[in-house]
Amino acid sequence: MLAVPLDGDVARAVNWRARLTHRLARHLRTSPVTLAPATPLVSFTFDDVPVCAATEGARMLVDYGGRGTFYISGSLIGTQARHWRVASEEHILALHEAGHEIGSHTYSHVFLPNLDSKGIVAESQRNGSCLRAIVPGLTLESFAFPYGFGSLPAKRTLAAIYRTSRGIVPGLNVGRADLQLLQANPLMDGRVDAAGIARMMDEALAKNGWLVFYGHDVVENPSPYGCSPALLEAALRAASDRGIPCVSVAEGLRRSLRRPAA
Ligand SMILES: [Zn+2]
Repeated sequence: MLAVPLDGDVARAVNWRARLTHRLARHLRTSPVTLAPATPLVSFTFDDVPVCAATEGARMLVDYGGRGTFYISGSLIGTQARHWRVASEEHILALHEAGHEIGSHTYSHVFLPNLDSKGIVAESQRNGSCLRAIVPGLTLESFAFPYGFGSLPAKRTLAAIYRTSRGIVPGLNVGRADLQLLQANPLMDGRVDAAGIARMMDEALAKNGWLVFYGHDVVENPSPYGCSPALLEAALRAASDRGIPCVSVAEGLRRSLRRPAA
């Protein structure tokens, strides 16, 4: 099932074939690993990256000693989208300099099931060139599927380019997992409240798991795809109260792949 309603153009693109390939992609692991972090972890991720996420959202993470991952599509930088203005080059550079992770989200914010392997590689290279023109030497380790949709061929192609690909299938990342479909939970006022977030944090604590959230805008009266500062604050406080470190996806992966002590 789709986690969020889609805009008209995309809804038309999501035909039965795309839904089937997505379902297959969910169940067939292309990069199986065992995730076993020494401590529970939480990662806050933001897609498309509205200005408010790059400023207010990023600042709130830092206030709690945390860092986040911001998945950027080069073609959207500085544009006015339906629900928000997208972060500028200056915002992206500031995110990087503040220690946040810049991730890739394709250059054209493209629906991956419609692309072949060559197309995915071309999108990745173009986005990489675009982002490295803003942040020289930037390494892109983390990817997020535009609209949350992947496919098996896409996962195989992406596995050769990025260490992880984040989807929108909810759950806790722990034990057997697929790095090319990291599970992530919506941080959206319309989908979850502070009590629901607290329960997820308790589960992460009990299972020593890696909890990943995804969202878009961080603003009063957010879009259906984003959250209010109050919800982000509640999530950060819930993590802080439980001593759960708030790390980028790249850092979360490093800590989750550690070898258990003998
Ligand atoms: Zn997106």
